[in-house]
Amino acid sequence: MPTVRNLAQLLEKTAPLPYQESYDNAGLQCGDPDAVVQGVLIALDCTPTVVAEAVQRGCNVVLVHHPVIFRPLKRLTGASEVERTIITALKNDVAIYAAHTNLDNVRGGVNDKLAEKLGLLNVRVLEPKSGTLARLSTYVPNRPTDQENDLSGQVLRALYAAGAGQIGAYRDCSFRHPGTGSFTPGAGTRPAIGTAGQPETVTEIRLEVLLPLHQQAAVLQALRAAHPYEEVAYELVKLENLDLNVGAGAVGELPEAMPPAAFRALLKERLGVPVVRHTAFERPIRRVALCGGAGAFLIGAARGAGADAYVTGDVKYHEFFGAEGHLMLCDVGHFESEQYTGEVFRDLLTAGFGRTFAVLFAETPTNPVHYDC
Ligand SMILES: [Zn+2]
Repeated sequence: MPTVRNLAQLLEKTAPLPYQESYDNAGLQCGDPDAVVQGVLIALDCTPTVVAEAVQRGCNVVLVHHPVIFRPLKRLTGASEVERTIITALKNDVAIYAAHTNLDNVRGGVNDKLAEKLGLLNVRVLEPKSGTLARLSTYVPNRPTDQENDLSGQVLRALYAAGAGQIGAYRDCSFRHPGTGSFTPGAGTRPAIGTAGQPETVTEIRLEVLLPLHQQAAVLQALRAAHPYEEVAYELVKLENLDLNVGAGAVGELPEAMPPAAFRALLKERLGVPVVRHTAFERPIRRVALCGGAGAFLIGAARGAGADAYVTGDVKYHEFFGAEGHLMLCDVGHFESEQYTGEVFRDLLTAGFGRTFAVLFAETPTNPVHYDC
């Protein structure tokens, strides 16, 4: 049976914590990382009632999208709902884990799921992030490329296994360039090539691979383990490249263009919303941008991507003006735009721990917004 730590590791493989926004607080909110998971209750938000439901249904983990602890807590007296939630969880040995903007910012996360529900095709990240990638260069002796002596191949395979060499949907990506390295081993060294105190020149291959910055420790460990040299020469350079697989929002195309009113009807039907707040727009809708949750910050990106419609939640009055005439800005509600996040959690857990692993959807209603229409 997996522990809470195993569960966190599984989720963070898809949604690494370093991909969360700077203001966020995703990850384990409370609970013992070494506790064995009896069952997981999935919800968008965690309240004392959700924790009680978890206990009643035999779950000792509540998995949520929104972190319960968002601002630092100075006391736990039960004065606020956040405090009561944490106290109830601790009293009942329930762990709470949140995957928030780190799950918004990855493929297969909140926005891909919403795009899938709307039937969008050719889905990509709306606003890719930069600063998430690094380039590693290292120098390996150039040996004949038979299986046993292919040192650069051995080093590369170790780097790939540790998470390097992935560019979008391509894996095992590298660049090799031959050259000549020189060095003089110092006193007390045990060089793989040459002798202490004697200047040496070696035909080497310069290897280059890209890697996610947050995986640098694992990749450098793999490099040191696989490289034949006592002192491994390498350079790790942070890149400003956009990472097309990491970032906010998503954009894709409907299979066929449809009139604006028909698109709003599609939103109501697929998202179960009674009302869509929107800007006036007359042209057909084909390209659709979206962002689960409060996504007004991406109105400019949606316009820049040539979207005919932008679907999100929590849009303020003045923010609607930013879209007028350019696209149909549709506010479907915060909860409604993220309601399918639970399916992402369920699919990740059953893929990782098997179909018999106990995963339940919370029945406690947590959307604080009600419609009177
Ligand atoms: Zn949200």
